[in-house]
Amino acid sequence: MSDEKIAVVTGGNKGIGKEVCRQLATKGIRVVLTARDEGRGKTAIEELKAASAETIFHPLDVTSPESIDKLGTFIEREFGHLDILVNNAAIRTDQGTRGEDVSIDTLREMMEANVYGPLAVCQRLIPLLKKSAAGRIVNFSSGMASLAKMKGGSPAYRITKTALNAVTGILADELSGSGILVNSVHPGHVKTDMGGPNAVRELEDGADTPVWLALLPDDGPTGGFYFDRKPFDW
Ligand code: NAP
Repeated sequence: MSDEKIAVVTGGNKGIGKEVCRQLATKGIRVVLTARDEGRGKTAIEELKAASAETIFHPLDVTSPESIDKLGTFIEREFGHLDILVNNAAIRTDQGTRGEDVSIDTLREMMEANVYGPLAVCQRLIPLLKKSAAGRIVNFSSGMASLAKMKGGSPAYRITKTALNAVTGILADELSGSGILVNSVHPGHVKTDMGGPNAVRELEDGADTPVWLALLPDDGPTGGFYFDRKPFDW
């Protein structure tokens, strides 16, 4: 196994995921930037290259078991191990809905992308993370997932991110002692397509805590939920 640290970022073609790729790459990590659309992924690679951040592209649609398996095979063949998995990709297609009227099909579709997908990616890549000296999994949650602060509106998005937080807790417990640290992050309200016109945070700030979690030291926390590098209410 080489000393080179390898990271996979899902949904790396734009928004916070792309910025996470940039920050990790500029810290000397070999980043596999994944995207469901090859053209958008390759454009992002070129843009990052122009910003002095070299990354490698591989296609990944987190809702496709075949696509997930192909990524796993690629990482296995090229690197033999994985150090960092950032589950950033997500959709939010339930704006303007309420719990009493959201379409169950919308919820199903969002569960596929925001929960089953990231869990399936974890399942395929955990054997490779176990071959790392310091495996890290970062799951992108949201402040809207907090049960302690739960409110109405965007019910499907809230449900999916709360479920993803459960995935974090489950995997962190099951993987304790393996060297793999698993945490959730709330990036804040960030200026991206998903964040919308009222977002207040810059990409750099939104990516700071996930990158910090991706690079935690061996005695770092696991099974936590973080915002601005501090614990956030579940
Ligand atoms: P964004 O700009 O909408 O980017 C989302 C990314 O996910 C895109 O690259 C998108 O690809 C990708 N994606 C969606 N479905 C996918 C699939 N099935 N397979 C692979 N990739 C897929 O969102 P963002 O604001 O950067 O959000 C990043 C993460 O932060 C998300 O998990 C989001 O829930 C979370 N978050 C964001 C905010 C915020 O204010 N922005 C707040 C709290 C949490 P395409 O370009 O192909 O659509």
